[in-house]
Amino acid sequence: MRIPTLALLLFLALTASAQQPSPLAPYIKEDAPLLVLNHVRIIDGTGAAPVEDQRIVLISGKIQTIEPANATTPLPANAKVLDLTGRTVIPGLVGMHEHLFYPAPSPIADGGRFYNELADSAPRLYLAGGVTTARTAGTINPYTDLELKKKIDAGQYPGPKLRITGPYLEGAGAFTENMHQLSGPDDAAGTVDFWAAEGATSFKAYMNITPEELKTAINHAHARNIKVTGHLCSVGFTEAANDGIDNLEHGITVDTEFYSGKTPGLCPDFGRKALDELVKMDVHGEQIQKLIQTLVSHHVAITSTLAIYETFAANLPPLARESRALKSLASQSEADYFRTRSIVAERAMPEAELKFEMAFEREFVKAGGLLMAGCDPTGYGGVLPGFGDQRGIELLVQAGFTPIEAIQIASLNGAKWLGEDSTIGSITAGKQADLVVLGGNPADKIENIEKVELVFKDGVGYDSKALIDSVKGLVGLR
Ligand SMILES: [Zn+2]
Repeated sequence: MRIPTLALLLFLALTASAQQPSPLAPYIKEDAPLLVLNHVRIIDGTGAAPVEDQRIVLISGKIQTIEPANATTPLPANAKVLDLTGRTVIPGLVGMHEHLFYPAPSPIADGGRFYNELADSAPRLYLAGGVTTARTAGTINPYTDLELKKKIDAGQYPGPKLRITGPYLEGAGAFTENMHQLSGPDDAAGTVDFWAAEGATSFKAYMNITPEELKTAINHAHARNIKVTGHLCSVGFTEAANDGIDNLEHGITVDTEFYSGKTPGLCPDFGRKALDELVKMDVHGEQIQKLIQTLVSHHVAITSTLAIYETFAANLPPLARESRALKSLASQSEADYFRTRSIVAERAMPEAELKFEMAFEREFVKAGGLLMAGCDPTGYGGVLPGFGDQRGIELLVQAGFTPIEAIQIASLNGAKWLGEDSTIGSITAGKQADLVVLGGNPADKIENIEKVELVFKDGVGYDSKALIDSVKGLVGLR
């Protein structure tokens, strides 16, 4: 039989494109429109105690019902039923300090500090780690972040629901050329207005912003119902709270207001001496308690970033805890990480600083403050998207929170700040089916938070391992 070759080729090409699987297909394990997660332990993210042997019914991407697995209610017809005996389901994490970049390889060689956008690996690793919603908390590449969000939302790329923070609002004196340096309040206003119009839904002020620039940026953001967070230095926490800031990153260890070497409006050389002074203070003492009261009464949230903070203490995290994440690093980034880690081990910050920050976070929550969490994959490396979020939760437990509280901090609390707690952040009937299936019980042993098997985003179950395997060796590069 003779078939015209060109026609055959065209036919093959057309049928191939018609059958083209979704670009997400290699990572999707469950996508039945009617799905039952049966015999699961639920830690719902609200702070409630775990409930054993439950059944969660997911319909069209939402949580339909939650009931005991032995309930007599018939299962929906045509539902796919997964027997998940022994597994724990927690809400998808709402990560609040989830940059889409990482230190570029060899940052030390010429003294420059640069970052590479992890357009490829960060979204997958966040999702693989259980982060289903991620606020980017400052960007070095706003258009890439915004375009990635569009692609992820359109189902063309795997990743969490991104909430894009605009470019850093940094004043003169930025430590990296990846940041624009504001030239004054007008520039702050223009930057906020422009990027809000482009799609940024929050902003982050940075260390050298002037008090006037900060005030102007907050006013312009609030005029658009957009919130502002900050990793501040030139402006103290109390002053920023009075200016109306909505969130402060990292916690007390970056607050300069108690430092004897502080000049108003300027970021001091906030090094060893300043931290020595700080850790001599008492978190139960009048000054810090007054600060906490101010933050709570002004509804200023704090983002806990203990995973990045611990890397500045000697030999932390323990290498056994790092081994999973290291496989995702580019070889040069891995070498850089170990080189700096060994330098840090020689002249590290005392662990007292980490403990001090932990104690502050506990006091803040005790006083009614909204504590959230994020991984912050920066510093000298070693904190990776997703992996770092899990480590942060483990460190919250080391800080004295219960596993249940730590999970709430990393899920529902972030959703509250985002104003999205009616649809995400907890395992509640009617909310989106953003869920993490763990092969163990984190309430018994918080390290089980690392045993992610499946991550559901809007009811679609992603294979954590497939996502991680797809970006091996990419972190640091792209
Ligand atoms: Zn950051």
